[in-house]
Order: sequence, then C-alpha cells, then structure tokens
Amino acid sequence: MTPEEFQELYPPLLNWLRATLTAHAGMAQAVASRAFSRLPLYFSKETLASTKVVLVNWVPRPPLSKMGLTRFVEFERGDLDGITYLDTFFLKQAHSKNEAIHFHELIHVVQWRLLGPDRFLYSYANGLERFGYRQSPLEVMAYDAERMFATSITIFDAEKLVAEKLAL
Ligand SMILES: [Zn+2]
Repeated sequence: MTPEEFQELYPPLLNWLRATLTAHAGMAQAVASRAFSRLPLYFSKETLASTKVVLVNWVPRPPLSKMGLTRFVEFERGDLDGITYLDTFFLKQAHSKNEAIHFHELIHVVQWRLLGPDRFLYSYANGLERFGYRQSPLEVMAYDAERMFATSITIFDAEKLVAEKLAL
C-alpha cells in the first residue's frame, strides 16, 4: 500500500472505527472487571482498567471494499475470533473466558498505543498485504507472546516486550 493510498483511506477508516466503538460503548466492559487471574501479572493495572472488551457474535471489520479496497476481502469477510481497535477489543462470545485470547488482544492494544492509530493501521495494512494475516509482523508478535503466556508460567512485562519489539 502506498502512503498516498493510505492517506486517502485513513480518514474514513478512523471515522468507521470511532462510530463502531461508539455504537458498542454500552456493551463494553473493562478488562479489569473480568477478573482474570494471570493478566495482572503481565499488564499494568492502568492498561487493564482502560482497555475494554466487547463480546459479540460477529467481529466487526471495516467495509474496506466499499472504501475502494477490494484486496483485503478475505480479512473483511473471513471468520475471526477477535480484533482490536484502539483501546477496545471485540471477541466472540465463545471466548469470553479464554484468558490467552484476552492476552493476545491486549498485545494489540499496546501496539495501538505505542504506534498511534495512523502508524498502527499503516503497518497492519502493509503486513496483511505483504505476508497475509497470520504472518503479518504485528500478528506474529501477538501470537508469539500469546504462546509464551499460554505455554509457560514465566512472568514477563508484556508491555515492555511490545515496546522492545517495535523498536527493532
Ligand atoms: Zn491478533
């Protein structure tokens, strides 16, 4: 994706994101209120208090093809367990008690915060385009960290990990 193409896409994309978050605000719960036992060992109190989760049957995605971007149609229409927009993530109901998926989406929340919405979206779109969903760099970071969380009891600072990886 060229910077020019992104510049055109960014304002409607951000509008869609904000409208989607507003439309679901009544269903949003602070992650801190979900009382997971391990998340507080990896993320700060502030992050768990400010991050919101919305449980849904269908994870909302921007109407990219209507915005003129037809090459992400698989991402737009495919089945997804969760997605993060700014400080809020959407999860399928079935995963409401899955702490590892919450962990994964929290990694994205930290990516959004550290990169800012413009750099996050540009990096994410480029990663998706060049490598596909699972191999895109921001997803690889989230999946790798999720695997460390799920397969080991070793405690690490997940926010610092993201900061270090983004700095590479
Ligand atoms: Zn992800």
